[in-house]
Amino acid sequence: MTAGAGDDLVSIDEHLAGILEAVRLLDAFAVPVSAARGRTLREPVTAQVDIPVFDNSAMDGFAVRFEDVAAASPESPVTLTVVADLPAGTQDDPSLASGEAARIMTGSPTPTDATAVVPFEDTVGGLAESLGRITVVRAPRPPGVHIRRRGGDLVAGDEVLAAGTLLGPLQAAAAAAAGVAEVVVARLPRVAVVSTGSELVPPGAPLRRGQIPESNSELLAGLVAEAGAELVFRTTVPDDGDGPPRAIAEAELLGADVVVFSGGVSAGAYEVVKGTLADRMAFTKVRMQPGKPQGFGVTDAGTLLFGLPGNPVSAAVSFEVFVRPALMRMQGRTDHGRPVIRLATGAGWRTPVGRAQYLPVVIDRSDPGAWQALPATTGGSHLAGGLGRAEAYAVIPADVEAVAAGDLVDVMLIS
Ligand code: AMP
Ligand code: MG
Repeated sequence: MTAGAGDDLVSIDEHLAGILEAVRLLDAFAVPVSAARGRTLREPVTAQVDIPVFDNSAMDGFAVRFEDVAAASPESPVTLTVVADLPAGTQDDPSLASGEAARIMTGSPTPTDATAVVPFEDTVGGLAESLGRITVVRAPRPPGVHIRRRGGDLVAGDEVLAAGTLLGPLQAAAAAAAGVAEVVVARLPRVAVVSTGSELVPPGAPLRRGQIPESNSELLAGLVAEAGAELVFRTTVPDDGDGPPRAIAEAELLGADVVVFSGGVSAGAYEVVKGTLADRMAFTKVRMQPGKPQGFGVTDAGTLLFGLPGNPVSAAVSFEVFVRPALMRMQGRTDHGRPVIRLATGAGWRTPVGRAQYLPVVIDRSDPGAWQALPATTGGSHLAGGLGRAEAYAVIPADVEAVAAGDLVDVMLIS
């Protein structure tokens, strides 16, 4: 890239590529559709039945022969004899002679002889006079109207969902509608979250001078869950001793695929992750703000190790940029990015020279046609409270020198 070239910084893309290269796909297994929500499909879902399964009525009304009522109008109503009643679930396929109709409910199979459905509202008596004889006052248009044809959506054998799809409620419902009982999905990644810092105490505990509430494990546990992964272990270790390697050993006993450390990776005197894991992790400076110091490695057992910087905003951004894509990729997800939209900014701000910036923003939605991105913090990566207002990150490329009010910027949505 431009500014910063010649230093020992690597680009975000370079660092991410190295991480994704180390990712191994997790095992896949079959689960009932009812247990698949939130999981990633590893094999495509193929329809077992047609959708619709059979020709059926789109309206409550009468199945008719189109030509019988093609000229019906208020001035020349047509009278038909109701010869059958077809509730949902019926197996009946009554024959319809000329001048005959069947009362039919939405979703009931239309008789083979029917070539249109007349809704109740196009008859004189509607539902109240729907058995016996009916009077049609409006012609159905065109022929076939209100009949939902078998296979109109898809037919058995069609691919309903592609491998790599996240099964949300809509996708699980589509699989169920296609007559699919089981789907093949990825095992959920198992993740350990390890905070480092001798200043950290549990939130709410009394603070002596120098101590602060530990918050990154809350942040990272939540982000892990939102990435569809399972938290198997969460702990805090001090800046002295061998807490990090011990935490890895414990996490591996619990079957962790990933250990995410926060803190202890930058250039200070007491960087416990850097100090104890130099044999297993590489420590890199990435051309981004926040999130410049990054650690990454793989253990002999294949566990991915992430060393994120400790400032809360840095940890949050680093997770989005590096950890989340890895968790997605492990599950076989094809879309590992967050959605990015372009919004005008409501205010200007400073950007770092030669580094991509991730600025927490609030989205002003007061004009639905012109959303605006506004800084949620003044930009310091230690401003953990402002993070609580943020719902997205403005992503400013390394070569942009300043953002002015009204500029269009990329906004990465995180909720
Ligand atoms: P470090 O990356 O360890 O130098 O930490 C950078 C800053 O983030 C320091 O001000 C730490 O106190 C703070 N910090 C590190 N870890 C956490 C954590 N788990 N919760 C809250 N703040 C933290
Ligand atoms: Mg620290």
